[in-house]
Amino acid sequence: MTTGQPASSDFDVVVVGAGYSGLYLLHRLRAQGRRVRVLEAGDGVGGTWYWNRYPGARCDVESVEYGFSFSAELDERWRWSERYSAQPDILAYLNTVADTFDLRPDIQLNTTVTSAAYDESAHRWRLRTRPSGDTDGGGADRGEELTAQFCVMATGCLSKPKVPDIAGLDSFAGPSYSTSSWPHEGVDFTGQRVGVIGTGSSGVQAIPLIAEQAAHLHVFQRTANYIVPAHNHELSEHDQGAEKLATRRRSGLDCPLGVAFEPTEVNAVPAMELSAEEREAEFERLWQRGGLVMMLAFPDLLLEGEANRAAADFLKSKIRTKVHDPSIAEILTPKGYPVGSKRLCVDTSYYETFNRDNVSLVDLTATPIDRVTPAGVLTGAGEVPLDALVLATGFDAMTGALTAIDIRGRGGVPLSRSWADGPRSLLGLAVAGFPNLFTVTGPGSPSVLSNMRLSIEQHVNWITDCLAYLAENGIAAIEATEGAQESWVAHAAEVAEPTVFPRGASWYTGTNVPGKARVFMPYIGGVPAYREACDKVAAEGYQGFELTRA
Ligand SMILES: Cc1cc2nc3c(=O)[nH]c(=O)nc-3n(C[C@H](O)[C@H](O)[C@H](O)COP(=O)(O)OP(=O)(O)OC[C@H]3O[C@@H](n4cnc5c(N)ncnc54)[C@H](O)[C@@H]3O)c2cc1C
Repeated sequence: MTTGQPASSDFDVVVVGAGYSGLYLLHRLRAQGRRVRVLEAGDGVGGTWYWNRYPGARCDVESVEYGFSFSAELDERWRWSERYSAQPDILAYLNTVADTFDLRPDIQLNTTVTSAAYDESAHRWRLRTRPSGDTDGGGADRGEELTAQFCVMATGCLSKPKVPDIAGLDSFAGPSYSTSSWPHEGVDFTGQRVGVIGTGSSGVQAIPLIAEQAAHLHVFQRTANYIVPAHNHELSEHDQGAEKLATRRRSGLDCPLGVAFEPTEVNAVPAMELSAEEREAEFERLWQRGGLVMMLAFPDLLLEGEANRAAADFLKSKIRTKVHDPSIAEILTPKGYPVGSKRLCVDTSYYETFNRDNVSLVDLTATPIDRVTPAGVLTGAGEVPLDALVLATGFDAMTGALTAIDIRGRGGVPLSRSWADGPRSLLGLAVAGFPNLFTVTGPGSPSVLSNMRLSIEQHVNWITDCLAYLAENGIAAIEATEGAQESWVAHAAEVAEPTVFPRGASWYTGTNVPGKARVFMPYIGGVPAYREACDKVAAEGYQGFELTRA
């Protein structure tokens, strides 16, 4: 894999990030004969699956649907071990992708992109980097400058960890670990008193495994989440035969969430048109099936109102059947927000973990964290002594990795200023004022509300087809127009308006990051409608974009 590059290099396309998106982009762009360089901050490929190595980390879209669909050769080479594969398996898969298509020579690791500026006269981007380990500022001197006609940000929706705003965190005497940058050698909690702060998806996955190892586990919960079971199991050869894969992938293309789901007649009927028993039976069927498809139970489930409350009641009732102590069950019961407005978590033995003698739950709504001390965590109820601390405190989602780079478009305008009141983009693919720049699964696209593998493939195909069109037609620059961007932003907001999403306090709306504009960022119109909108733009000669001839 490339490490020491020449001080200055010029490319057709620079891609930032070597996760699912960056790997597939490189494969497609090289097939078009382009000179490409992928820049990656980590010292390995895999993105999410390179960084998030905490115990229990696994996908919550089923493995067979989370694998790329573009290559029969890859399908032949790879077998998934579980219905929801664990992080080491997914990381091994992405390394297999890199090897199968010989991607490594064009990937530069340990390289953090610090800035990207558009040169209007040359129609080119100028990027600056620093070696990833250098955080003291001196790294800028040891960085490089690269230029390229096109820049594709494959920087990930959940790749910029949120800095926890907890007083005294640095004063803790023991080790503290972040789920999003877990030590590669693993952590042994045997015999230790461990605290986990955060009960979102990562916390829900990590807590049962840490509890099995620690002498005592203290879970600090600010918000109880809605959780559905994974019902994880091993996969057989039959589960992932070519025919099965093809059927599931086809089904995913027609589903709003991009996952295989064969709706029954009941699923097309608004929940409140059914009797309570019929509704309950359908919730139970999907509970037994397991996974995120619970969100597809009824067409009105994600709208504000009675259907959503029925789903909430169902999920709450399950907590009471699993958790023995009614007072603990009550603390674990979500309150004050609708199902779906925060990311639904998928668990294995999460609730059962609270029946263990070595697990305590700290309700931070009743006794908030005052500060972290050298000896533990001080809450309103006193100090909890700890040997180790785990932070599962989430991400500055969707925009964090983009605004962390000093991206400047036409007239030197920074992206962070253009997005000060929330992100605005055309289809989550391009931003007015930033020619020749593309974002993979950017805000305004289904992204985190879909099977991201499917959305990534669709975006990469759209972007690379677009670049082919530009080359064929002698076009030097492409830029989203303000008008088209505003129409798309308005449409995305209109579609979201009746749903439970915009008013939820979640990372979907930026509420988890102090000072971040509160705007619902993904597109909730569903994968099929979104794909149609993208295809229409392309079929009409990139309608909504201004094209500048060379
Ligand atoms: C714990 C966890 C579980 C998940 N499970 C699922 C799931 O089951 N199903 C699903 O659909 N999605 C899931 N996701 C979302 C997941 O992020 C996507 O599925 C997918 O992996 C994203 O791929 P990507 O290449 O777009 O971004 P990422 O995998 O995030 O990769 C982005 C890469 O860009 C690099 N980068 C960022 N900024 C810079 C910079 N300035 N310079 C250089 N490099 C940079 C990062 O280091 C990173 O390696 C999960 C996310 C997390 C955190």
